[in-house]
Amino acid sequence: MSATTTQTSQKVNDEAFGERLSNGRLKSEYYEPIPPDHFLPKPGDQILDIGIIGSGIAGLAAAIGLIQSGHNVELYERSGFSNEIGAAINMCPNATRVLSFFQFNFERPKPTTAEEMRFIDGSTLEMRRRMIAPDFRKIYGAPYLLYHRADLHTELKKTATKPRPRLSKVAKINLLSEVTKLDLDGHITLSDGRQIKKDLIVVADGVRSKFAADVVGSEENIKALPSGTMCYRFLVPTQKLLDDPQTRHLYNTERFTMQIAAIDGERLVWYPCRSGDVQNFGFFVKDSIVGFEDEAWNIPTTKEAFMKAVGGLHPDLQAVCEKADDLKLWRLCSRTKPIPRLTRGRVVLIGDAAHPMLPHQGQGGGMAIEDGAALGVLLSNLRSKEQITNRLQLFHDLRIKRVSAMVIFSSVGQDEHTKISDLARPHVDGPLPTNPQQYHDFNFTPNVIRDAMEILDKHRTSGRL
Ligand SMILES: Cc1cc2nc3c(=O)[nH]c(=O)nc-3n(C[C@H](O)[C@H](O)[C@H](O)COP(=O)(O)OP(=O)(O)OC[C@H]3O[C@@H](n4cnc5c(N)ncnc54)[C@H](O)[C@@H]3O)c2cc1C
Repeated sequence: MSATTTQTSQKVNDEAFGERLSNGRLKSEYYEPIPPDHFLPKPGDQILDIGIIGSGIAGLAAAIGLIQSGHNVELYERSGFSNEIGAAINMCPNATRVLSFFQFNFERPKPTTAEEMRFIDGSTLEMRRRMIAPDFRKIYGAPYLLYHRADLHTELKKTATKPRPRLSKVAKINLLSEVTKLDLDGHITLSDGRQIKKDLIVVADGVRSKFAADVVGSEENIKALPSGTMCYRFLVPTQKLLDDPQTRHLYNTERFTMQIAAIDGERLVWYPCRSGDVQNFGFFVKDSIVGFEDEAWNIPTTKEAFMKAVGGLHPDLQAVCEKADDLKLWRLCSRTKPIPRLTRGRVVLIGDAAHPMLPHQGQGGGMAIEDGAALGVLLSNLRSKEQITNRLQLFHDLRIKRVSAMVIFSSVGQDEHTKISDLARPHVDGPLPTNPQQYHDFNFTPNVIRDAMEILDKHRTSGRL
C-alpha cells in the first residue's frame, strides 16, 4: 500500500475513470471474470507434458495456470517445504484478480487488509500522517489483501494439487528433487542422476536462479546483487502486544493498520496477517552482512544483533522488537538491469528467476502470479508441439515490458521516481507514474488474463499461429 493513498484520491480516481479505465477500455468488460475452465482443450488440441523447476509462488502459479489449459504438469522442488519464510506478503488487486481466476480460496489462508496507514516518527512516536485506504475492489475490481507467506503458499499448493470444480487435472510436486542441468530442448537432470524429458520447461527457481543465464545466453547481469539494504523480519502475536502496557498503544484496535516508523533512513514497518492475530514486522536498515555472498532470504542472525540494530528506536518500539519470534534476516537483492529475454528453445523463465526486484512496490509475488496466468492462457488450445516456441515468444512479448518496468520502479520508493525515469522510459508505453496514485493505476489496473487473450487472438487472426 502506498504512502499517499487517501479517500480524496479514490474520489479523483473514480471520477477520472468513470465507466472506463484511463487507457479507454470499458471497465466492466476488462474486469469481467473469466471462468477457470475457459481455456480447457477442445477436441484435437495438443496436450503438453510440462516440467517446472521450483515450487515457490511462481512455480505454483504456473502449475495452476497450465492445468487450467489442460496440460500435464510436474514440479521439481529442491527443498522439502520445511523452510517457509515467516513473514507476510501483500497481494495487490492485479494479483488477486488472477487468484480469483485460479479458484483460490481467499478465506482459508486468513487474509487481512490495511484499512489505515500511519506514519510515525521512530524516535518520538509522534504521528506524522494518517490515512484511510480506499476501496480497492471498487476501483480496480479486486481486493488488496495481506497474507502470511506460508499460508498463501500452502493455499497455492492446495489449488495446484487438489481437484477443483470443472477441472479434472492436478499438478504433481516432487519434493527434495533438485534440478542440476537443463537443456533448451526440454531435458532436465536431477541431482540423483535421473534424466527427464518434457515438451516444455518452466524455470521458476527464484532470485538465485541457476538457469536464467541459459535462457538469456550470457552470465552478464544475471546475478542478483545486494542493494545495500537488509531487512530483519519477524512476527509478534497481536495478543502479546495488547498484554503489554508499553506496547498496547502501538496496535490500532479500530481497524487493520499498516504502520511505518522512520528514523534516519531506517524503517520499522508492520501490518497484520492471519485474520489480525499476528503482526508482521520488517526493520529495513543498511546492509552490514559479512559473508553469505550467495544467500538472500534466510541469513542467520541473533536477537542480540537485532536489538543492537534497533537501538535508535523509541523504547516502546524496542519493547516490540524484544518480542520477535522467528527472527530472519533478508538481504534485498536485485539485478541492476532487466534481462532482455524470457524464453529460448523450449524453456521459459518466470518469477524471481526472471525478474528479481526490491520490495518497494510489493509486486514480486504479484508479477510471479501474473506470469503463471499468462503462461496458462498463451499455451492454451495448441494444435501441435511445433507451436510451442511461437507461443513462448508471445509470452515474452506480453510480459517483458511490464516486468522490466516493475524491476526498475521497485528499485526506489514511490516518492523517488525522478531517480529512475530515464531507465524506466523504454519499458513503459504512455506516461511514467510520478505519484503514488499513478503507481497504483500502473500496478493494479492490468488484467493479465484479458491481455493474454487479446495478444493470442491478434496473432491467430493474423495467421501467425
Ligand atoms: C523483503 C521482501 C518483501 C517482499 N514483499 C512482497 C510483497 O509484499 N508482495 C509481493 O508480491 N512480493 C513481495 N516480495 C517478493 C516475493 O516474495 C517474491 O517475488 C516471490 O516469492 C518470488 O517467488 P518465486 O517462486 O519466483 O521464487 P522463490 O519463492 O524463491 O521460489 C523458488 C523455488 O525454487 C526452488 N529451487 C531453487 N533452485 C532449485 C533447483 N535447482 N531445483 C529445484 N528447485 C529449486 C527453491 O527451493 C524455491 O522453493 C518480497 C520480497 C522481499 C525480499
